[in-house]
Amino acid sequence: MAEWEPVVGLEIHVQLKTRTKMFCRCESGFGAEPNTRTCPVCLGHPGTLPVPNAAAVEWTVKLGLALGCEIAGHALFHRKHYSYPDLAKGYQISQYDVPLCANGRFLVPGPDGDREIGIVRAHLEEDAAKNVHVGGAGGRIGGAAHTLVDYNRGGTPLVEIVTQPDLRSADEAKRFLQLLRQTIVELGISDAEMEKGTLRADANVSVRPRGADELRTRTELKNMNSFTYIARGIEAEVARQIEVWDSGGKVVQQTYDYHPETDALTVRRTKEEAEDYRYLPDPDLVPVEPPAELVERLRAEVPEAPGARIRRLEPQLGFELAEGLVASGRDRLYERTPGERRAVANVVMNQLAGAGIDPDAVDGDELGQLVEARDRIPRAAFLEALAHAGDPDFRAERYLAEAAVADVSELEPIVDDVLAAHPDEAAAYRRGKQGLLGFFVGQVMKRTQGKADAKVVNELLREKLSA
Ligand code: ZN
Ligand code: MN
Repeated sequence: MAEWEPVVGLEIHVQLKTRTKMFCRCESGFGAEPNTRTCPVCLGHPGTLPVPNAAAVEWTVKLGLALGCEIAGHALFHRKHYSYPDLAKGYQISQYDVPLCANGRFLVPGPDGDREIGIVRAHLEEDAAKNVHVGGAGGRIGGAAHTLVDYNRGGTPLVEIVTQPDLRSADEAKRFLQLLRQTIVELGISDAEMEKGTLRADANVSVRPRGADELRTRTELKNMNSFTYIARGIEAEVARQIEVWDSGGKVVQQTYDYHPETDALTVRRTKEEAEDYRYLPDPDLVPVEPPAELVERLRAEVPEAPGARIRRLEPQLGFELAEGLVASGRDRLYERTPGERRAVANVVMNQLAGAGIDPDAVDGDELGQLVEARDRIPRAAFLEALAHAGDPDFRAERYLAEAAVADVSELEPIVDDVLAAHPDEAAAYRRGKQGLLGFFVGQVMKRTQGKADAKVVNELLREKLSA
């Protein structure tokens, strides 16, 4: 049986969080009553004219730069025609043969080394409205009684990113998406939340004999709204295709929906030929020509890429911890917190995240003091202090002063001193006067101003007195 290699490319849509829509001044964003954020422009009334949103253009250029793309000096808006109720004008304003950003590369470190994923293009377009299917199962069109259209989303700026078919596993696709999402969030241009639909990804999937150069027939996977579902959908489709080829069949070019509840793939449509959208340059819009100074200013604002940061942290922390910190946006706190590197990384990645604390609100120096004291104070006291690490006036010192001393190496000499100072009581205890234990505990407490952890002191005393 041949050994098969997955070949995966992604097509991602990111909704920009500009204050207003792409070609009109309607407010953009969620939460408003349906069809209250509309105007003649985004409803496609005849005679209205679109005016591009400058912030959306700048943000797309910035994202393109973060993806290592070349920025076009002269890009065009095209009309992409199709007919559907969510598209009031009968065409979507998009970009076609001259996109704003093209030919990028994006670094995705993995446990077995680095991968560079090619970016074919990143272009700017407008989102369609939202169809709401009523009366069917799970909001799907199948079985629905009727469909409503909410035009609030129509005309929201959208960046479409297309990768080369460079991804070689479901895991790698997931890792790419997580780092892409982190990049977008750090640029401050979108919330990029899959559950809310502000980040949407479709996957093109094929398989080929390992080591081969050919590209076999691919299928398209849609309807996956989490990183985990995307990985599982790709895995399921790869397995299906391998079975088709291995049993002497042929993979057919089709679009599938992945159903995470059942792990099933269902055919949405069979593509018999390429769709013809009759693209034409939009005569209502002038070309987009970002000035070179603007591009350079934006380039300077792009933070260090997540992939580069993982690679930088990996030698200290190993791949998994480095990736975890960067992919969750916690690496900046890690870097500004002094102390033993693994201890700091573990606290930032596990305990602080578990406490639900915004890493950007935490003072690194204060956290460093807490991490340093971690083994000297009782766990409960440490966690209590950690729970307040995001408070605006958090001072580690205050919590440490209040915390009991639980460190055996700190308490042992004190216990020894107390026993040496009271030889008669020690002898009496050994003869059976067990009630004296409380006396010794009291002496240790006195010497530590009451900060000793009672449980640890009791254990130490019992151990020493039974010897
Ligand atoms: Zn509008
Ligand atoms: Mn698109």
